Amino acid sequence: MAKFQTPLLDELESGPWPSFVADIKQEAEYRKENPNKLDFQIPADCLEDLLGQLELSYKEKETHWKHGGIVGVFGYGGGVIGRYSDQPEEFPGIAAFHTMRVAQPSGKYYDTKFLRKLCDIWDLRGSGLTNMHGSTGDIVLLGTQTQQLEEIFWQLTHEMENDLGGSGSNLRTPSACLGMSRCEYACYNTQAMCYQLTMDYQDELHRPAFPYKFKFKFDGCPNGCVAAMARSDFAVVGTWKDDIKIDQEKVKAYVGQEIKPNAGAHAGRDWGPFDIVAEVIDRCPSNCMKWDGKKLSIDTANCVRCMHCINTMPQALHIGDERGATILVGAKAPVVDGAQMGSVLVPFISCEEPYDEIKELIEKIWDWWMEEGKNRERLGETMKRLSFQKLLDATEVPAQACQVKDPRSNPFIFFKESEVPGGWSHDLAAYRKRHQR
Ligand code: SF4
Ligand code: SF4
Repeated sequence: MAKFQTPLLDELESGPWPSFVADIKQEAEYRKENPNKLDFQIPADCLEDLLGQLELSYKEKETHWKHGGIVGVFGYGGGVIGRYSDQPEEFPGIAAFHTMRVAQPSGKYYDTKFLRKLCDIWDLRGSGLTNMHGSTGDIVLLGTQTQQLEEIFWQLTHEMENDLGGSGSNLRTPSACLGMSRCEYACYNTQAMCYQLTMDYQDELHRPAFPYKFKFKFDGCPNGCVAAMARSDFAVVGTWKDDIKIDQEKVKAYVGQEIKPNAGAHAGRDWGPFDIVAEVIDRCPSNCMKWDGKKLSIDTANCVRCMHCINTMPQALHIGDERGATILVGAKAPVVDGAQMGSVLVPFISCEEPYDEIKELIEKIWDWWMEEGKNRERLGETMKRLSFQKLLDATEVPAQACQVKDPRSNPFIFFKESEVPGGWSHDLAAYRKRHQR
């Protein structure tokens, strides 16, 4: 017999999708039926209280996790997100029910030994509920009590050689696509860079000293499997400088229907026979491709490396050989201001170990942001408030055409008066004359 009636939560069990409500109920049931099996430190009562509080939140349309309360492990300022109930008398089992963030392996490769060990620790000392993975990429362990934190941390670090991830105003757990380990499009070794920068910036990861959170993400190519350019303050996105490699015979094989487009992977694709003009040439965002019926050509200077043609005809087209990455900065989901995509800061940077050039850039950005950023202001917001030009000054990156955010309407780059021949008044007069105002 359940401790609380949960008619609203029960609704979430209907429908075709797996339900977290069903998971919580299942875990509570299991713990109730096997109280001594694992010597559970978080008994079934806690999970029933969790369901009870959640039901109340749905009913009252407000959260019952209260703000405030700093909790963590010794020496770390992040990695544990304190969760305290504002109804502890009614739901004593979750009076404290913290979330722990655990660093995911680069590219999210696991072996079963790792997963079993992690689950054993969490079954014993936590609620058994996990989120694989959180939006930053971490393994998220949902719900444990304060006295378990140090024990879990010790087991994670000593028995699993793993670590907590980032939370609060620090460097968040860096995340990378699986890159060269499996993907032919990887323009640099994302996993190596992610690992190296994680190790180099341990202090920034565990000891919050920033105005707000800061995320690194590493995508091996513009396909963006970890969405670096949409979701990280500092995105490293693989790219190439030279021509896309074209195998003309294979192009003809696609046109002749001998090879399936999109590696045959478009589930439910029913567009009739492959039409290179409609599906590739006309969809090129910079209109830089030509097909004369026999030969495909690409005007490299105008290609924006969107990956569409390569994804559609992967056997015929391939990324170039001069590989590196583009650095974009300032992406974020809404906090103070609305959602924002990253802006190009460095169009092309080498990605060779030990990544000195990239680290130098990161540290210049941090110095500037820590000096100028307001409390709870993401880099993208500081950048918008003070101008991109200020960031260029701070990082000593020269202004370039490819940093222009929105050509013709918002140049996003500002000139100093000293940079305009003849000063502002001369410039304005020339502008008015040109436009006859
Ligand atoms: Fe491959 Fe590019 Fe995705 Fe990385 S981002 S896994 S390189 S397609
Ligand atoms: Fe056009 Fe994109 Fe292909 Fe470049 S990568 S040629 S922009 S479709």
